[in-house]
Amino acid sequence: MRYISTRGTAPALTFEEAMLTGLARDGGLYVPENIPTLTAAQIADMAGKSYEDVAFAVMRPFIGDTFSDAQFRELIAKAYAGFGHAARAPLVQLAPNHFLLELFHGPTLAFKDFAMQLIGQMFQAALSRSGDRVTIVGATSGDTGSAAIEAFRGLSNVDVFILFPHGRVSEVQRRQMTTPSESNVHALAVDGDFDDCQAAVKDMFNDFAFREDVKLAGVNSINWGRVLAQVVYYFTAAVSLGAPHREVSFTVPTGNFGDIFAGYIAKKMGLPIADLVVATNRNDILHRTLETGAYTKEGVTPTISPSMDIQVSSNFERALFYAYGGDGATVAAQMDDLKSGGFEISQGAYQMLQDTFKSGRASEEDTKAMIKSCRADSGELLCPHSAVGVHVAQAHLGATPMVTLATAHPAKFPDAVKDASGVVAPLPPRMADLYDRPERVTRVANDLAALQAVIKERI
Ligand SMILES: *Cc1c(COP(=O)(O)O)cnc(C)c1O
Repeated sequence: MRYISTRGTAPALTFEEAMLTGLARDGGLYVPENIPTLTAAQIADMAGKSYEDVAFAVMRPFIGDTFSDAQFRELIAKAYAGFGHAARAPLVQLAPNHFLLELFHGPTLAFKDFAMQLIGQMFQAALSRSGDRVTIVGATSGDTGSAAIEAFRGLSNVDVFILFPHGRVSEVQRRQMTTPSESNVHALAVDGDFDDCQAAVKDMFNDFAFREDVKLAGVNSINWGRVLAQVVYYFTAAVSLGAPHREVSFTVPTGNFGDIFAGYIAKKMGLPIADLVVATNRNDILHRTLETGAYTKEGVTPTISPSMDIQVSSNFERALFYAYGGDGATVAAQMDDLKSGGFEISQGAYQMLQDTFKSGRASEEDTKAMIKSCRADSGELLCPHSAVGVHVAQAHLGATPMVTLATAHPAKFPDAVKDASGVVAPLPPRMADLYDRPERVTRVANDLAALQAVIKERI
């Protein structure tokens, strides 16, 4: 299995190389040269299996010979052993034909743990084999950073630097990043917003001298290994609800388009998914794009669902690549236009996107009202991101079972949840001392040179 860039000019890589590299050298994102499919019989065979067994069946065709079957099974087992629920991704029912996929039972209480815990295991295995050392630099709107730090803390072949927007992450998110005491963990509070952090990381990857010098590796949501790990729970959920004999739809609270893109891959692999619904908060570039065909940047407004506060959605480039039939040159040209504000998607590609993705947005009022009513109607306490999803899903309910992804635990956003519902969401007992641990953080100007200097000095 080879991986090619969405912009068409970077060299093709193996799974291991694509995972360790992150962003391609032509600025594009890696995608598999072709997407393997599973037969209906193979999907039917997943019924009743453990999460780990399904994970192996779904991901194995993508990893080539990077790991042996036995080793890959072992890495999967280790990745999910620290989860607080035996099912890993349990499904609960909210209403007739509407289900919630709880993806928040990992060590940092958000779905990012599904990918990051596995990526941590895979990096460690690959690096200890080669003897290399890498510097992981990532940008986060809150959850990626804590998940990355949790996955890489204490590993001997990795330094991890996480850039987060100062003052714009929740206290739980911040503490999850600033309280680990391992010396290979570096939390950097940047004076800017998430897009500034993301842009700084992109610029570091495009600075080839710096990239070589510090052996830069990326684990942001553009990392193919992360997208792949997220494909798995679409299978476990759909099979629980009757796939492959029955279609299932999904609504996904969306920011960088990684999670919903994983759903698209599941569909391409043969999982009978009817609708894939993109749910945004009022930072709605994706919803506007799907409604109008124009991908146009606007400023970011902070919301109570901060992990979805984005101006530009990085994984959307992968969807564009497929919409343009794999034409990297066109994708590269459109991404260039984005620098000056945006671009129009051409008719054929727009049609494909509209056929594949539905969308909706939730205002702050919608989100709060949903946290409150969902608690009253079903007993489920939603985090604000999951509430955006449930709100949007309600407009798409029908004869096909709908699964809304619950992307974080309510205790990760206790203030917003309490404000909306009056209910205090306690942290699970295993992390109850989070507020007592000392914090360690470096405040840095929103300036590429300053950030690079801090990184060089620390490694
Ligand atoms: C990251 C995140 C999202 C958005 O996921 P994308 O893959 O970036 O679309 C939604 N909700 C929560 C809680 C998150 O952490």
